[in-house]
Amino acid sequence: MSAGVIIVAAGRSTRMGADVPKPLLDLGGRTMLQRSVEVFDVHPGVDELVVVLPSALVTAGPSLVGPTSRPCRFVAGGERRQDSVRLGFAALSARVDPILVHDAARPFADIGLIDRVIAAAAEGGAAVPAVRARDTVKRVDLDRQVVAETLPREEIWLAQTPQGFSRSVFEDALAAAARGVDATDDAMLAERAGHAVRVVPGDERNVKITTPDDLANVRAAVSGLPRVGTGYDLHRLVEGRPLILAGVTLPFERGPHGHSDGDVLCHALADALFGAAGAGDIGQHFPNTDPQWKDAPGLDLLGRAVEIVRGHGWRVASVDATIILERPKLAPHLAAIRDRLADVLAVTVDRVSVKAKTNEGVDAVGRGEAIAAHAVAVLTPGAER
Ligand code: MG
Repeated sequence: MSAGVIIVAAGRSTRMGADVPKPLLDLGGRTMLQRSVEVFDVHPGVDELVVVLPSALVTAGPSLVGPTSRPCRFVAGGERRQDSVRLGFAALSARVDPILVHDAARPFADIGLIDRVIAAAAEGGAAVPAVRARDTVKRVDLDRQVVAETLPREEIWLAQTPQGFSRSVFEDALAAAARGVDATDDAMLAERAGHAVRVVPGDERNVKITTPDDLANVRAAVSGLPRVGTGYDLHRLVEGRPLILAGVTLPFERGPHGHSDGDVLCHALADALFGAAGAGDIGQHFPNTDPQWKDAPGLDLLGRAVEIVRGHGWRVASVDATIILERPKLAPHLAAIRDRLADVLAVTVDRVSVKAKTNEGVDAVGRGEAIAAHAVAVLTPGAER
């Protein structure tokens, strides 16, 4: 099989209201357009691709999509959807057959779906993937705003793309479009031209992204995976210094050596946040040489780390830390420490875990010469608090 695929991404995206064209919106690290093109580019039955874009984007097309293994051309769309499809078809070479038409607003078509459409189009001349309606469908008398009829649900199927056509059926469909039929999909043009259109199983995951709510749902699915980071810190303990953890001063005769408050808990947590966001580490963001951060309290550094990862599009979902020190006992202070952290991390206190352990008298920590902390942070997508 040597199918040619027309990917239609020329719509005005008016229902989305974003400041970038809908096909260029990010879905978990790749744009909607890239996802839509990729699945066809790797399908063994596909020989050529044409992407129909808004005219302003055509020149940038190759860089927007990136390298493809099949020939991929870029053309400007027309006034109506069917005009865009006609222009796309004109850019395919004469040897490809069948022709598939796909909406770039459906970035989750998969190989199996494409297989079914190609096979049915090759065999029957025209094929549309569809899923059963789950809701009861009413035909509404719009003048009176009353139900005119309840349609038999088992006969109601919702059409998706890609839709597939043999070259000759597709040419008939385009001729029907030229005669003035206004169509919301390509199968409708083939129907009007008198061809039977086969229905093959669609895929519930092959959703069309039309509104900001659609986008939010899909984002949650594709980029909703949490990110995890770890952090570690250790400071030597010396006489005559305060012992501070998350801004809470503990009654003890020794504290971390150095200029800063040596708050191992906040330092380990900040590194965990940076790690999860892939945003470097504490030494890079708060260099000793920068007077602004040189002696800054650990809690301030942590607050700034939260801001930085938020700028990368992440917010804190939860943190867990273990403080290792021989003395004093931390248990009486953990509630206060968790409260302070929850405040700075902008999460409820149940999402902040702080545990304490001794080192059983072993090593420098066990001898009371140092305090250490391990931390894990989980981030989820989203910049809002
Ligand atoms: Mg430190």
